Amino acid sequence: MTVDPKRAMEARKERMLSEHLAARGIRDAAVMQAMREVPREAFLPLGMELFAYDDGPLPIAEGQTISQPYIVAYMIEALELLGRERVLEIGTGSGYAAAVLSRCAAQVYTVERIPSLAAGARARLKELGYGNVTVHLGDGTRGWLEHAPYDAIVVTAGAPEVPRELLDQLAPLGRLVIPVGPTQHLQELVLVRRTRDGHFRHEQLCPVRFVPLIGEHGW
Ligand code: SAM
Repeated sequence: MTVDPKRAMEARKERMLSEHLAARGIRDAAVMQAMREVPREAFLPLGMELFAYDDGPLPIAEGQTISQPYIVAYMIEALELLGRERVLEIGTGSGYAAAVLSRCAAQVYTVERIPSLAAGARARLKELGYGNVTVHLGDGTRGWLEHAPYDAIVVTAGAPEVPRELLDQLAPLGRLVIPVGPTQHLQELVLVRRTRDGHFRHEQLCPVRFVPLIGEHGW
């Protein structure tokens, strides 16, 4: 009996959705649907497609990683998106999380500091038709002032502290999710909410392990 590779990939994806996302508490229907729609295999280096729906981070170019699917879903769910928001992502990497975000928000702005990754993600997102994502090459520890304020900001690299400029670029009632920790590879995921009158409320979510956020207000 021959196995259709496309169907086998879909079956692995459905298993990932039920065993690693739903079973571990991801409840937001839009996030689940986005994780179903976005083909993670298209964001991986050639030859790694088979591992696309394992629940782990995978290496991409330049010593960087594409994040674990559960963590991508968890971080996006924590942003409490309704579909009409403008979202800033710091750490484009492969472009995968930006693609998932683009299904949950109106507009996604994403910043990457490594030129080849930014160019690769920009081309991939265009080819796959994610027209509401804009990729910018730059130091994301400074945010992206041009399109601020943002309803939500997600940082996909670990910072020593929450960069002040990201807080400044968050709209009132906005949410920021960022890994923060005292060493370059071990962090706590932090959710920051900006109140209507401009105060910030911090909440620790869970321990995580991200590559370091490198830049003026990072490492
Ligand atoms: N979101 C990505 C994806 O879906 O593939 C995974 C991101 S990877 C874990 C972290 C990324 O953050 C790397 O591509 C790294 O180059 C980038 N990065 C680190 N410091 C940065 C900075 N100051 N500004 C922008 N990107 C940065």
